[in-house]
Amino acid sequence: MTAPDHILLLAGTFEARQLAERLSSTFPGLHLTVSFAGVVRDLPDLGVPTRIGGFGGTAGLAKFLEDESVTLVIDATHPFAAQMSRNAFEACSNCRLPLLRLERPAWKPLEEDRWEPVVSIEDAVSALPSASRAFLAVGRKEISRFYPRSDIFGVARMIEPPRQPLPPQWELVLARPSSSAEEEMSLLRKRGITHLVAKNSGGERSYAKIEAARRLGLPVIMIDRPKPPWTKTSTTVADTVEKIRIVLASNRS
Ligand code: NAP
Repeated sequence: MTAPDHILLLAGTFEARQLAERLSSTFPGLHLTVSFAGVVRDLPDLGVPTRIGGFGGTAGLAKFLEDESVTLVIDATHPFAAQMSRNAFEACSNCRLPLLRLERPAWKPLEEDRWEPVVSIEDAVSALPSASRAFLAVGRKEISRFYPRSDIFGVARMIEPPRQPLPPQWELVLARPSSSAEEEMSLLRKRGITHLVAKNSGGERSYAKIEAARRLGLPVIMIDRPKPPWTKTSTTVADTVEKIRIVLASNRS
């Protein structure tokens, strides 16, 4: 009897959670391991084997893939988790394993949006005019890059506090993004925000702030996604499941 396929699902997005649930129900008997970086503490119980923490770079990941006899890797990490995606690409190439990526589409500006696209965090930092009041929706890893801008007021929202505290006078909002544009408008209004800085994460769960900025006529400094090496990519959970079905079938033939 041949061993069941072992899928390593690199998680960290809502879609990765949905995919984990779909895989368990669609392919009963499948050996599935879900991997989280361990950045946030309140991880969901997906009812499948889960590991937490980095692998130790490309070499560590390649060792994991070999030790655990992984047969397929799904990269469902966040569009801005570029290091993990690069590592997955390199480790799968080195181990000659199939790799599929699940990545939700990027947001596109509407006609009335006032977006200023930038390609990096550094460019976003420099794009803020002096004396602006910026809502910095960039996450805890990158927020400290804005700290040298002592000429602006910053409000940062994140799930867990940053390692380096915010500059004095800035405000930390410890919360997940709201799904209500009205709530986001109220938050921006109350703080007299003049600019929104956002990563082009895509998806619906953090889009309300973009809609709020549009309705308030605020400029949005929109950070483009990094470009990891090319990988066969699906934009939906359903399409990823179908691509996985094909890989599993070809593994068995
Ligand atoms: P990153 O810069 O691409 O990765 C940094 C390191 O974290 C990786 O080299 C890897 O460590 C470890 N890592 C990342 N994802 C992992 C996973 N799913 N399982 C095991 N190890 C993982 O990623 P990041 O931007 O720090 O994001 C960390 C996690 O948060 C990711 O899973 C991502 O999906 C999620 N996330 C990120 C953002 C964002 O804006 N960046 C937003 C929401 C969620 P080793 O090299 O030691 O293997």
